[in-house]
Amino acid sequence: MKVKRDQEFLDKVEELSGQSVNACIRCGTCSAGCPFVKDMDVLPERIFKKIVLGDKEGILEKNTMWICAACFTCSVRCPRDIDIAKIMEAVRQIVLREDIDMVDLDHIENLEELPQLAVVGCFRKETA
Ligand code: SF4
Ligand code: SF4
Repeated sequence: MKVKRDQEFLDKVEELSGQSVNACIRCGTCSAGCPFVKDMDVLPERIFKKIVLGDKEGILEKNTMWICAACFTCSVRCPRDIDIAKIMEAVRQIVLREDIDMVDLDHIENLEELPQLAVVGCFRKETA
């Protein structure tokens, strides 16, 4: 399937993150060390490929940036000094700026029993 290239999306990711996505050499170190890959639709390194291709739609349908816990493991290990966590945050910001909330309160069980810090952190990360 031919991907519709969205240069504006690529430029926005780089502007918000302050990182050069094209510097990635696809070594896979970020994916290899990420503690949350088992819950991700696609590996962090694959997200880079999609960003370079300007495949905005292909990225937004994945859960990778929402599962990312911004733990910075990948950022400190990247041989090209790319701060991947900042790129994940940039992609999240692009979605949230479109006024799309990623938290569905109706499907959170035992909300009142969850740690307050976790709830606040979730809202800061995933709501517009
Ligand atoms: S570790 Fe860095 S260079 Fe390697 S695939 Fe990940 S982002 Fe690209
Ligand atoms: S910052 Fe995100 S992508 Fe990177 S290792 Fe941590 S959870 Fe994985």
